[in-house]
Amino acid sequence: MGAGASGLAFADTLAAEANVDVMLVDRREAPGGHWRQAYPFVRLHTPSAYYGVNSLALGDDRIDEAGENAGFYERATGEDVREYFAKVAERLTRTGRFHLLLRHEHLGGGLDGEHVRDLTTGEVDDIRVRQKVVDARYLEASIPAAHVPPFEVAPSARVVPVNDLPEVTGPKALFAVLGSGKTAVDACVWLLENGVEADRIRWIRPREAWFYDRRHFQPLDQVAGLMEGLALDAEAGAQASSIGDLFERLENTGRLVRVDPSSPATMFRGTMLSSRELHAVRQIKDVVRLGRVKRIEADRVLLDRGEVATRPEVVHIDCTALGLNNAPGTPIFQRGRIVLEQVRHLSPCFNAALIAFVEAHRTEDADKNRLCPPNPYPSSIEDWPGMMTRTWRAERRWLREPDLSAWVAASRLNLLRDLPEHASEPAAQAALERFVTHVPAAIDKLEGLSAPPPSVQTPEGR
Ligand SMILES: Cc1cc2nc3c(=O)[nH]c(=O)nc-3n(C[C@H](O)[C@H](O)[C@H](O)COP(=O)(O)OP(=O)(O)OC[C@H]3O[C@@H](n4cnc5c(N)ncnc54)[C@H](O)[C@@H]3O)c2cc1C
Repeated sequence: MGAGASGLAFADTLAAEANVDVMLVDRREAPGGHWRQAYPFVRLHTPSAYYGVNSLALGDDRIDEAGENAGFYERATGEDVREYFAKVAERLTRTGRFHLLLRHEHLGGGLDGEHVRDLTTGEVDDIRVRQKVVDARYLEASIPAAHVPPFEVAPSARVVPVNDLPEVTGPKALFAVLGSGKTAVDACVWLLENGVEADRIRWIRPREAWFYDRRHFQPLDQVAGLMEGLALDAEAGAQASSIGDLFERLENTGRLVRVDPSSPATMFRGTMLSSRELHAVRQIKDVVRLGRVKRIEADRVLLDRGEVATRPEVVHIDCTALGLNNAPGTPIFQRGRIVLEQVRHLSPCFNAALIAFVEAHRTEDADKNRLCPPNPYPSSIEDWPGMMTRTWRAERRWLREPDLSAWVAASRLNLLRDLPEHASEPAAQAALERFVTHVPAAIDKLEGLSAPPPSVQTPEGR
């Protein structure tokens, strides 16, 4: 259920590892999930090199020469990602064991199978499932084009989703960007790059956010920098005495950045920025920090902690959609059912493929769940310790399973895939040693700092 990146990455690896038939059901008109409705200037946050499905490369692993990503591995545009997933679905369909049922909505399970509604005719049918139902929509992304803004808009106020930004720019236009996350950063950078001066942009930030520095997410020939980032996580975790101290360490070492270092930041969604993007958005000085927007009128914006004046001609750009889904952890392998979630933190494609490999090569659900414990997406700084310790514990378990660790090592979706080839470089070697030295102490230390474990509930109870 769900033909986004997760459903496709799962189906691709399952088809390679087991002799099964897979049907993917989606209410959209084409595969690719939220990318079908992404804003026009969206790009992957991470390099294309480790995004998508295991059996097919995305892009050519080129290094960008210009722009905000200069010096780093290419990141696919929304159009590239849509074309890629269409190709993935086409290749899978050619195997004869894969079926794509589009414009059909899954309504839930019944005695005669899974109920799905044909969105063209309105008819409801049952799909008989021979093996398992796979919920590839549990972490469905919430995006500006599809969400309902969480604030009221008076008829005379101008509010548009970020998708419409290219259509509303003009030589004298004024903008207010709403949101603290990566989409809001993308909107600000896009405006600045398209000739809008910083003093024509107001940025309404409900929370201050932490971002990773993109230089620590470069794979292949730059994997030493990636390993350095992981070593910084382990060192900060092993030495931290509180959440505040932890984030101070992560900032002091350059692992994490925030737009305004003088404002306390509480939001952590695991997204990343390059130093060029950071430099660009720091030019915007009109920043409103009065909490979440409650209502926008022609001449004022009402927020949690006060109001600010606006004008009828100001275009308010909605970038407040949640993006990553905050659903709580639930067991991934359940009776007759698999729920696709994160295991290694913040790696949706890798995790979907990993879960498929484990499904194909292990028999007991308890064993599968031991290897794939759920790791919910983070929202705030309190989520960082639990997110990291769950990853480190799971990775330790994989290392004791020769077939699984061989699959992880070879997978194109594994961002550390090229580490063995570069392990003799002094920088990579030193970072690896620091990582291995500090992880055990970090796990112990972070247990004490962790938010309570994610509540475990069934997907239906969400
Ligand atoms: C702007 C943006 C950029 C991102 N960039 C990156 C990145 O660079 N790297 C990275 O690793 N991750 C990135 N992510 C995270 C992203 O969420 C994942 O990469 C991935 O695309 C999510 O795929 P998904 O299949 O889990 O969810 P979705 O793409 O949301 O797909 C879920 C699908 O389920 C379908 N569905 C839901 N309910 C039903 C139902 N009842 N019946 C039928 N169909 C249903 C939906 O129609 C949808 O197509 C990004 C996210 C966003 C929002």
